[in-house]
Amino acid sequence: MGSPIGRLVRVPFGSSVKIGVVIDVVAASDQPADKLKDAALIDDLPALPADWLALCAFCARYYHYPLGQVTTFALPPLLRRGKKPRIPKAKAPAVLPAPTFATATPDQSAAIETIAQAKGFQPFLLHGVTGSGKTEVYLRAIASVLARGGQALMLVPEIALTPQLEGRVSARFPGAQIVSAHSGVADAARARAFLAAQEGRADIVLGTRLSVFMPMPRLQLIVVDEEHDASFKQQEGLRYSARDVAIFRAKQRDIPIVLGSATPSFESFYHASSARYRRLDLPLRAVAVAMPTVATVDTRKQKLQDGLSAELIEAISERLRRGEQSLIFLNRRGYAPVLACPACGWISHCRRCAANLVLHLADRRLRCHHCGLEMAVPHACPDCGNLDLQPFGRGTQRLEEKLIELFPSARILRIDRDSANSPKKWHELLATIHAGAADILVGTQMLAKGHDFPMLTLVGVVGADAALFAADFRAPERLFSQLMQVGGRSGRAALPGEVLLQTEYPQHPLYRALIEHDYSAFAHAQLAERNVAGFPPFAFQALLRAEAPELVKALAFLTTAVEAAQNLVAAEILIYDPVPMRLARLKNRERAQLLVESRNRPALQNFLAQWMARLYGLKAPRELRWHLDVDPLEF
Ligand SMILES: [Zn+2]
Ligand SMILES: [Zn+2]
Repeated sequence: MGSPIGRLVRVPFGSSVKIGVVIDVVAASDQPADKLKDAALIDDLPALPADWLALCAFCARYYHYPLGQVTTFALPPLLRRGKKPRIPKAKAPAVLPAPTFATATPDQSAAIETIAQAKGFQPFLLHGVTGSGKTEVYLRAIASVLARGGQALMLVPEIALTPQLEGRVSARFPGAQIVSAHSGVADAARARAFLAAQEGRADIVLGTRLSVFMPMPRLQLIVVDEEHDASFKQQEGLRYSARDVAIFRAKQRDIPIVLGSATPSFESFYHASSARYRRLDLPLRAVAVAMPTVATVDTRKQKLQDGLSAELIEAISERLRRGEQSLIFLNRRGYAPVLACPACGWISHCRRCAANLVLHLADRRLRCHHCGLEMAVPHACPDCGNLDLQPFGRGTQRLEEKLIELFPSARILRIDRDSANSPKKWHELLATIHAGAADILVGTQMLAKGHDFPMLTLVGVVGADAALFAADFRAPERLFSQLMQVGGRSGRAALPGEVLLQTEYPQHPLYRALIEHDYSAFAHAQLAERNVAGFPPFAFQALLRAEAPELVKALAFLTTAVEAAQNLVAAEILIYDPVPMRLARLKNRERAQLLVESRNRPALQNFLAQWMARLYGLKAPRELRWHLDVDPLEF
């Protein structure tokens, strides 16, 4: 019998049986003999490989999360229960037909060549403008890995993007076995994909953040597409960044990793400027199309029609005359962000959160976008009985209504999480756009990601100013990236594109950088500001968050946590005061947080390890919950 390390076991636990993973074998235990239990190996499941266990151990250490819970999380649900999926009979090994390739541009060829020559661990940042053909570079890099008998792992941010990508990848590698891993895959299929990857039968694993935990014995390349995307960071439980874990994994396996984006995260861009990563540029679109022209429309000088300027309305009319598509981008769904009573000042508050209920007129509901609470739209003011309640502000539904009024014969399509509330709906909407059966698209950031709309020649941006002055230091980065991505949807085929940005701040450096298509200048300017302010990537952060039915209790716990840190604090560690979170009340729970920061990552990690050991020993009130978020993205 081989070593049991990595094997799944059944262990009696009280009156139930738990599934465990053997992480070590010891000759003696310091526990009394009657506390020890017999563990039974689960026969029909293979041992998890040593590098997979090491990956889990790294996550447990770095995110200060219990190893048992990391391991459980990293396993697909069926295996967590110790069950083996039925494996269909293996197909006869296919003869791999030579894949057909489109002609690569010189920039693509140079990038492919450089990746192919990488020896051992090497992170690449593939910075390519929208339409520059990043996917072609990924696919060729994967092709050379498969030709050497290796496995490739490709991470994408959204489930919605995987079917499209799966189609493209399987068309390119018809003889290869490709498996997908994301939360939308059914339990049995997910377990089968995991085992196919673990046993080396799968050549390519495609998936969202959780696929970074797929065991792959012949792994030779990792690709992280849209590496800047916030969805790579999990916001609950094990708060890991799949991009960062992927980098650890590439280092552990001593293989190259390609991070790709049109608008890299400023962290990755900084690493590429400081030579920790190697930068590969695709500055030109693959098909010879100019970048769209970007211009601002100064909205201080005119009266808008429900948020739309005369210039934008004229530009849409022109597209309608030419039979081309327009996209109006407003990153706020619903009809209006709040319903109010002008007579007494009542506004539609969520009773469970420190937030307003959003008016959704399409189905006449008030809805909290934070906790999901919803109710029918009241006919009269609940406080004073006034019948004339007014919507304030503007969401995509209201914009759609105005566009229908302005362009009654146009085919208008709204695309947001309400209209595209299932993958099926989303694909129907995409098909409608591609068939040219829509003239005007109104939508949120859902439209910004990875789709080619060949007939789209105009992008209008409405209501973006609010994000210019958000308190979060990452807000400008996100806004810039969003606007650059959404602008990049236009003019992809033979038709030149135009982007019109409505703003009251036409001179703002963020908009100036968009007009110049100058990501680098903007990134450098923002990084210089972060360096002065001591924000990431020049500092490393962790947030301790606590929530309780009353704010005082959450704050009191954090104050105790600060006291517990007193004699641990080194000169390099900064602990800030506990403060209520920006959205202080969520689902009837009051939330507060405490920021810990250091310019020295090992010092911070060392501090967190000792501090967490003390925090686990603290007696917290029963209704209080707390967690640590290392490298937080949301404040
Ligand atoms: Zn009222
Ligand atoms: Zn709520």
